[in-house]
Amino acid sequence: MIFDAHTHVFPDKLAGKALHNLSEICGQPYHSDGTVDGTLRVLKEWGVDGALCLHIATKPKQQASVNHFAAEVQKRGLLCFGSVHPDAPDALDELARIRSLGLRGVKFHPDYQGFFADDPKAFPIYAAAEELGLPVAFHTGWDPLSPDVVHAPPQAVARVAEEFPKLTVIAAHMGGMARSAEAEEYLAGRPNVYFDTAVASLYTSPEEMLRLIRKHGPDRVLFGSDCPWSRSVDELHFLQALPLTSAEMESILYGNAARLFGLHS
Ligand SMILES: [Zn+2]
Repeated sequence: MIFDAHTHVFPDKLAGKALHNLSEICGQPYHSDGTVDGTLRVLKEWGVDGALCLHIATKPKQQASVNHFAAEVQKRGLLCFGSVHPDAPDALDELARIRSLGLRGVKFHPDYQGFFADDPKAFPIYAAAEELGLPVAFHTGWDPLSPDVVHAPPQAVARVAEEFPKLTVIAAHMGGMARSAEAEEYLAGRPNVYFDTAVASLYTSPEEMLRLIRKHGPDRVLFGSDCPWSRSVDELHFLQALPLTSAEMESILYGNAARLFGLHS
């Protein structure tokens, strides 16, 4: 069984434009048409049994519509994280709504949302997520949108995990896109942190990947592709080339997500 814990979808009307614009920013081609149906289709082709979509409100006023869309997507068979914007005056109310909509957690993309992951202004949101039992996922490390200013370096995400020990923190991109050494130093081994493997095949060497998995523990690594920015099969092949045991692979590909998100196998 394979669960892809890092994918993105867009409303049908916006998907084409969103993929075009984001592709220009990140300089990567896309591998789905960005719609829910198109994504379900390619994931199936790639042998993926279930997936999590991460949504991001890039403006404070977008929260409600983004979470409404996420709830619709979830009804169509993809689990979703919702989003709150740290500058939204009603961020805490929206967090409670995310919980009541049955969304599985909250995604932050500090580069797109214009804040630093460890900015105290976001702490009340983290505290409320911890209280509500909602995991939070951060785009962690470098991002092509803001190449010179990294808004969620591994050290900042580590500070959040330390400040909120009961909060489950998912540090995407193996704890730091293009920041493997810092991920290893500051995040690997933290008990309330998960890593996901999204686009690791593009940004992490096999040696770095293995060191990170060994130091962090394979029971807190989630398989993810970042579809449409990578294909699940390519990320799977990248992992399969590492000297991991079949039990470790099973945990990463499905077992850890099953435990974290309450999936039934
Ligand atoms: Zn992503």
